[in-house]
Amino acid sequence: MKENWKVADLEVRPGEKKQGYLNVPGLDLKLPVTLFCGAGEGKQVVITGGTHGAEFLGVETAIRLSQELDPSKMNGNVAIVHPANVPQFFAKTAYVGPHDGKNLNRVYPGMAEGTVSERIAYTITSNLLRFADFYIDMHSGDIHETLTPYVIHSKLGNEECNRISAEAAALWGAKYHVYSDGKTGALGWAAMQNIPGVLPEIGEGARWTEDEVTFFKTGAKNVLSYLNVIPDPIVDLGESRQLEPMDVIMCETQGLWYPRFRPGESVKKGESVGQIRDFFDNVLVDFPAPKDGTVLFECSSLSIQVGHPVIGIG
Ligand SMILES: [Zn+2]
Repeated sequence: MKENWKVADLEVRPGEKKQGYLNVPGLDLKLPVTLFCGAGEGKQVVITGGTHGAEFLGVETAIRLSQELDPSKMNGNVAIVHPANVPQFFAKTAYVGPHDGKNLNRVYPGMAEGTVSERIAYTITSNLLRFADFYIDMHSGDIHETLTPYVIHSKLGNEECNRISAEAAALWGAKYHVYSDGKTGALGWAAMQNIPGVLPEIGEGARWTEDEVTFFKTGAKNVLSYLNVIPDPIVDLGESRQLEPMDVIMCETQGLWYPRFRPGESVKKGESVGQIRDFFDNVLVDFPAPKDGTVLFECSSLSIQVGHPVIGIG
């Protein structure tokens, strides 16, 4: 007989769903969570939307999944945090949280006594992520980002972990999936514990539409089917090409950004992918493509700041 599932002070019986909050230690802050305790034994899956709080498409998709999944037909357990970064969701800040200026996806596994972002990360790792068999971290184009759909998966786990991550990444219906070796994000931290996972990137400019939510949700359900958590058959969403780790060009000179390509377009090594200019239209920096590849994402705003990504080529 399957046991009740306990997370923090929430407890849910097999075949049932419970909604509530995870308290962030030492702060007047709680993260909305939906727990599905499946009727049958199976894998434990953690889903987060809004690790970057203004990536609203991921947040809305997480909320829809929390409404639509049926625990009576599920195996294993699924926890959905929607959103992970509540302060950033309401502040509508790009990349970083409003209280500490930190990027939640650079502070994993977090600290109980840390800054707000670090405590949020700690709340998710200590209550959910460290017990997970699989992790889905749903991102999307931030306020000033445009992208072509792609799915990131980590190479930092063991062979089995990396294989499962790569197979799941190919099921989202995104044209590309791409390796990452980032260690301080939630996905990378999970992989280093040999917890496979995926980080889909769909949508742009903090926008969300019904079509995009449907597309995003179908990918998530495909992965849950692949893990035998839900009984639905895997939907054939087309080929997804494996790309090598992305080359991300970072901004070192503040200015105005003029890209030459759109996400999804191919570039040749050495050709200019865009320029940063000053207010008098003088060219400050011209960026050559570091390799032949595909533009996966780029900054979509005219202004660009030091330390922000300019363009990512996979
Ligand atoms: Zn993000």
